[in-house]
Amino acid sequence: MLECHGLAVAYGRHQALKGVDLKVAAGEIVVMLGANGAGKTTLLKALAGLVPVSPASQVLLEGQPLTGAPPHRIVEAGLALVPEGRGVFADLSVRENLLLGAYAQRARAGQDAQLQRVLSLFPKLGERSAQIVRTMSGGEQQMVAIGRALMSAPAILMLDEPSLGLSPLLCSELFRALKEVRKTGVGILLVEQNARQSLAIADRAYLLENGHLVGEGAADQMMRDPAVQAAYLGGAAAKAAPQATAVAASEAASASVAAAAPWAPSPSPSPSHSPRAEQLIPTRIADLVHMATRVQAEQVDNARRQTAAAPSAPTTSDTLAQAIARIEAAATAARMPSPTAEAATPAPAAQLPTIEVWRRPLIEIWRRGKDGKLQPGD
Ligand code: ATP
Repeated sequence: MLECHGLAVAYGRHQALKGVDLKVAAGEIVVMLGANGAGKTTLLKALAGLVPVSPASQVLLEGQPLTGAPPHRIVEAGLALVPEGRGVFADLSVRENLLLGAYAQRARAGQDAQLQRVLSLFPKLGERSAQIVRTMSGGEQQMVAIGRALMSAPAILMLDEPSLGLSPLLCSELFRALKEVRKTGVGILLVEQNARQSLAIADRAYLLENGHLVGEGAADQMMRDPAVQAAYLGGAAAKAAPQATAVAASEAASASVAAAAPWAPSPSPSPSHSPRAEQLIPTRIADLVHMATRVQAEQVDNARRQTAAAPSAPTTSDTLAQAIARIEAAATAARMPSPTAEAATPAPAAQLPTIEVWRRPLIEIWRRGKDGKLQPGD
């Protein structure tokens, strides 16, 4: 278990953290929510030994005091940080990045087993083990950063805004991966702006405001808390899109999601049936494709039914098709006149097309005769 008591940090005269008490147990996901500048990054840096803490602060991991210890000793003790912006070694390969994560003494002996665990959590890293990290997508680089931190065999993993800059789909993948990490018994302290998705996977949450903890509780209670909804979940929107949008709910409901989805097509589609983006975020891509195909098929059916039921008023395309047919018939008749047919039933002149033929004017050559007069030449 990670715990800190009275954790305080000052940058010069600016008190960024003021007496923070928190705990993260093994196999628990704890989210730290807070506005910009609340002190979330400072908290993680202080726990990781990257910024000096005030003398009254206390940091303990598995009961072992770590206050004021240098970062490498803190990693050695079992506390790993995935910093904001990932901090991967961009010019090294995936495998090299991962192996560097096992530099700590506690990890070296079990390096191979730990590598296998990381690769089973993130199979893509195995497939791409020789790829230079700079050439990977943002989401893949985030997986490398998390994988590298896990290579130090941490008891507690801290992540600073891991979803920053990721597409909704990659965010969902990331949060699913964190749930898998929790299953291995690692405790997770997650700093996130993406309150909805992080609360959906979390066990507990804290609220940080101006360097103070102003709230804490079970993640599902936090999700329902009006103050949290107003500050982090978009207020009223949160009520309309409750926990059913959570990753866990989407996984449980994935088989029946197409039938139950609020954006299922209706016989008379209206704008109110359009899904909101946050409703779609936790949905698997396969389900989205399935639903989109279904919606499209039903819309085509609806359109066909409506066309069949409607009185047959000529449309622009009908008129155009008739005109083209008339022109083609006339052109065929003009190109291949059948003498017998012509003789038998001469086509009315009105139906034949008038084709204007333009010829170049004749060039007339005149020669001047011996008498000096002009006369036509050959
Ligand atoms: P964000 O969500 O925007 O990343 P945060 O909650 O992580 O914000 P911190 O980065 O911890 O906030 O910053 C907390 C406060 O400390 C801010 O007012 C910030 O300006 C200040 N601060 C952070 N780092 C330093 C520093 N190196 N020197 C001086 N002030 C700093």
